[in-house]
Amino acid sequence: MTGSLRGTSSLLKNLPLPLVKGKGIKGIGLNQEQIPTAGAVSRLIQELNKLPGIGPKSAQRLAYYLLRAPEEQAKLLAEAILSVKQKTRLCSICFNIADSDPCPICRNDHRDRSKICIVEQPQDILALEHTKTFNGLYHVLHGALSPTEGVGTEDIRIKELMSRLEGGGVSEVIIATNPTLEGETTAMYLSKLISPLNIKVTRLARGLPFGTELEYADDVTLTRAIEGRQEF
Ligand SMILES: [Zn+2]
Repeated sequence: MTGSLRGTSSLLKNLPLPLVKGKGIKGIGLNQEQIPTAGAVSRLIQELNKLPGIGPKSAQRLAYYLLRAPEEQAKLLAEAILSVKQKTRLCSICFNIADSDPCPICRNDHRDRSKICIVEQPQDILALEHTKTFNGLYHVLHGALSPTEGVGTEDIRIKELMSRLEGGGVSEVIIATNPTLEGETTAMYLSKLISPLNIKVTRLARGLPFGTELEYADDVTLTRAIEGRQEF
């Protein structure tokens, strides 16, 4: 018996697969040739583990799920991952991720070009678009300023934002960076940078999340909710 086969048999012993009694390996849809080496499985676990929010346990669960799934399903997943890398690009105007350049939002003539909403990441656009309350354009910074992590003004798309604004036609900039230390630092920096351009700079209101009870709100959130109060 070769080393790899020994590895395979010990792997199968640890597999949490629903082994059907009497059907042996065939019962789980694997034959001798298709039995993966321990190396292939651990490589998949290792790669899945690199994904955000996927710990070692989840990576293991997903890997074994894929091992049991029909080959077609695994193929579709692999192709989707490859095409997201090969077929998407950054919009040269707003730096959103899209299949085309300019992206559909920048191309849309019905959008208000005088308003630009600044976000940290492309997925923030999805969240804001979901609300259907903003009809302007966006600008994705691809990060936030963080002196502790060494992210400076040259590392995010600030230069591109400024040349967009200097091009004229923008009357309001809405800073929608995250309410984190990095997001706040970025918002402060941008508002100082943009103010001399005679463009109105606004920041997303901060306050209590919907469904929160006052007694459970933290001090910072509650303070900001009071400061940002609005007239009925
Ligand atoms: Zn765009």
